[in-house]
Amino acid sequence: MNTQTSLSSSRAAAPLPRIAVLATGGTIAGAAADATNTAGYQAGVVGVEQLLSVVPALSTVAHVVPEQTASIDSKDMSMPLWTTLAQRVNALVAADDIDGVVITHGTDTLEETAYLLHLTVKSDKPVVLTAAMRPASALSADGPLNLLNAVTVAANAAARGQGVLVAFNNKIHSARDVVKTSTYAVDAFQSPEIGALGWVQDGRVEFQRSVVRAHTRATEFVIGANWPHVEIVASYAGVSRIAVDALVTAGVRGIVVAGTGNGSIHASLAQALADAASQGVAVVRSSRVGSGHVMRNGAAADDALGFVSAGSLNPYKARVLLMLALAAGATGPVALQRAFDMY
Ligand code: ASP
Repeated sequence: MNTQTSLSSSRAAAPLPRIAVLATGGTIAGAAADATNTAGYQAGVVGVEQLLSVVPALSTVAHVVPEQTASIDSKDMSMPLWTTLAQRVNALVAADDIDGVVITHGTDTLEETAYLLHLTVKSDKPVVLTAAMRPASALSADGPLNLLNAVTVAANAAARGQGVLVAFNNKIHSARDVVKTSTYAVDAFQSPEIGALGWVQDGRVEFQRSVVRAHTRATEFVIGANWPHVEIVASYAGVSRIAVDALVTAGVRGIVVAGTGNGSIHASLAQALADAASQGVAVVRSSRVGSGHVMRNGAAADDALGFVSAGSLNPYKARVLLMLALAAGATGPVALQRAFDMY
């Protein structure tokens, strides 16, 4: 046996990584009556086996272990399903025979689920979400390549320890940074504040930077069935205090405000939120702008009013962190601000 032959046989003997693919629905599993229809379709109707069957190249990248976790349009994502999904991912990454997890998801709430998992999965193993903007039945459907790329990333050692990732349209994003930025474009996901972590193409995975903020095993958050009631309100011209007062009456534990600019808040809404904070409701200032930071004590007197700054988290991700922090027992603006500064 010459050297070349023994090298090839040892390569052939190396087992492929075992990657669990959890399907939850979304447009990637969507079907329309006709291939030219990319808007009027039903999300979440194509099963995981069928999604995998149209991507034969998967078998060269990983041994895929499929599971149908849900079949929903992700606009209808719920907290009980988040609990189920996060617990299942944690069980899979704890298993010796699973090397990574891919989750197919609808694009509408993908960034929320991804950030939730980023804060609650207790493993360094890769967990990668992907999705599609065009249904499986469409001409030039983007789901099959996104799925192949997501499995390719999850099977790659460089993805370990980076927290939860999103592989979409050849880019690799951190769950913390990524947001949906277009209603129909196939490059709908961006990390507007600091850009993608890297890229995946034709089987090659390259990370150009790594995730610095604490995530996964380094957080105090453990997924459970206890979801503190947190809602989101927005500030805009002529806004009234009606919504905030109703939420306080309903007994919410927290309110995230999608403020204007640097998290600035209309005077009527600011007064209502100050009243809410004085009654023990957690108030977090985020921004509706879509990128940039909300500076603590910048556009509002957070120290005096008992508010918390969301930093660079958008309102939807700020809500995820606020729920987890409250569930973990953080009370009061100081403890909550620590969570927002850390994660
Ligand atoms: N409504 C769909 C969903 O979020 C949209 C998509 O997946 O692109 O499930």
